[in-house]
Amino acid sequence: MNSLIGIICSHQWEDPQRFYVNSAYVHAVAAAGGTPVLIPHQEESQLENILEQISGLLVPGGVDLDPIYFDQELHPKSGIIDPWRDQSDLVLIRGALARSIPILAICRGCQVLNVACGGSLIQDIESQIRQPIKHRQEAPRWYPTHEIAIAADSLLARIYGAATIRVNSFHHQALDQIAPGFRVTARTSDGVVEAIESIDNRFVLGVQWHPELMAGHDPGVSKLFAHFVAAAKNGR
Ligand code: MN
Repeated sequence: MNSLIGIICSHQWEDPQRFYVNSAYVHAVAAAGGTPVLIPHQEESQLENILEQISGLLVPGGVDLDPIYFDQELHPKSGIIDPWRDQSDLVLIRGALARSIPILAICRGCQVLNVACGGSLIQDIESQIRQPIKHRQEAPRWYPTHEIAIAADSLLARIYGAATIRVNSFHHQALDQIAPGFRVTARTSDGVVEAIESIDNRFVLGVQWHPELMAGHDPGVSKLFAHFVAAAKNGR
């Protein structure tokens, strides 16, 4: 297989309309030997065509997913909604799963992966979880501010080679009901889900933190992206 890694663009809809991706994702994929390609929102049939060309899908962070996709109304603490990004994410994630294309889903990406497969979200951690720790850090973006406990016998444990690691945190939403076919492979001490994986052996991994922002500060990050790109190169 080729090493084309599709990275989904977010959409700024105020004039001038723009598609954008934070450059850290591009750099992390390229550093691991992958070839990053950006995927802007477009018609579903075109997104399906793109899925025929790429070998891996990176679903980056972003604004809140519209909770209509898990049958809830918007919580008052919910943030910006990007309907174009929602649509791109859902089409591309479901299409990638159907084609056994490896997926790395980060932060919002992890949340949409769960919802795309039938799970749900906690729309606001601080108002819906008892005694949460801080998940919206006020520290440099590369700096780890909380610990996560990693499940044994998980893809994440094989990649990081540790039972606990410290990671950064930039989210106010979290996974609630876990989608069928997935399992939780990392949590913080307050019980918040920090990673999910497909229960079959494919590389389908969602992480709630931002590894791409920790590149150069945490040796595990290059291993994570290397595993992802290798899975993509090895084929579906
Ligand atoms: Mn967190």
